[in-house]
Amino acid sequence: MKLSKYLTSMPAYSPAPNTYKVKLNTNESPYDLPENLRKEVVRKLGEMQFNRYPNPRAVELREVAADFFGIDSSMIMPGNGSGEWLKMLISDLMEHGSKLLFLDPDFFIYRRNAGFAAVEKSIVSKGEDGFITVEGMIEIIQAEKPDLFMFSNPCNPTGQGFNKEEVKRIIAACGDAVVIVDEAYNDFYGESIIDYAVTTENVIVLRTCSKAIGLACARIGFAIANPRMIDLINHIRSPYSVSQSAQVIGQVVLKDKEYLRSITARVVEDREITYKKLAALAEKYPEEMKIKPSVSNFFFVRFKDSKKICDALKDQYSIAVRDFPTAPIPHTRITVGTSEENQALVEALTEILAEQK
Ligand code: PMP
Repeated sequence: MKLSKYLTSMPAYSPAPNTYKVKLNTNESPYDLPENLRKEVVRKLGEMQFNRYPNPRAVELREVAADFFGIDSSMIMPGNGSGEWLKMLISDLMEHGSKLLFLDPDFFIYRRNAGFAAVEKSIVSKGEDGFITVEGMIEIIQAEKPDLFMFSNPCNPTGQGFNKEEVKRIIAACGDAVVIVDEAYNDFYGESIIDYAVTTENVIVLRTCSKAIGLACARIGFAIANPRMIDLINHIRSPYSVSQSAQVIGQVVLKDKEYLRSITARVVEDREITYKKLAALAEKYPEEMKIKPSVSNFFFVRFKDSKKICDALKDQYSIAVRDFPTAPIPHTRITVGTSEENQALVEALTEILAEQK
């Protein structure tokens, strides 16, 4: 069989079902749907026509989402999570042999998806601590001259963000290359490039409903760009990839901007409170733990012995965090949860680090 060598050599990405009391490993929202929205979703699902394919261009969902993002509905197209867009854009957008650049660390799926694509890949390290200045990024882009450049802003896993002016400078450095700005976590930051991206020819922004919007179960993500680019990338979309139930859920929830703003603000407030506590721990145990501020809903933490700490969090405290021990810069990513969950994490780490000493 002439199977892809990359496919047969890669480990599976199959997240285990959650069995822990406190789930801080996948950057989801800690807030499930409130009763009023839940009722409205159920009512609308009850009106659905189950024997027909979903609305192929997701007309209503696009209208509501366009209003949410402050753009025209011709500038947005949903996918089965933004993950589907990431896969399709990396594989199908560019001419074979084009040069794709991304930096490390960044969302690990870029590297996985790129392995399948018939493009030339260049992965450049951001440097020792995983953080980079905008000047450093521009220097890399100018040296590499990519045809397609992608990055997450804020960055998963570091939590570093570039503000709008910085992102514009990064885009300018890319010339006529296509730039994908993955804004999966931008609700927590508020420095979106959407309004500028839709006025350019070459910039695609990706957004998701899986994080701040709290709809990870529904699998809805959006590509946002100028209308011509949206028409073009619609050619590579799998037909009907966004189920009618997902479209209905998205329509109901994205309309409630006030609610969404309130849960996002709560996460941001809890992030700041938790950061202070974790930073105090890192200061007390500088050899054991390092942490940087985050503009997202997670922290990039470097433990000296991450396996021991992550195992103790799971086994003794039933707290799941995400460990990346074999990444080029080994790190642990910890999601911001509810105030109680964050407090449980801080208390557990305080005990584990004290015991380790
Ligand atoms: N981009 C980034 C940076 C992410 O972290 C994720 C999910 N972890 C995604 C995209 C994909 O999100 P989804 O497919 O759930 O929309």
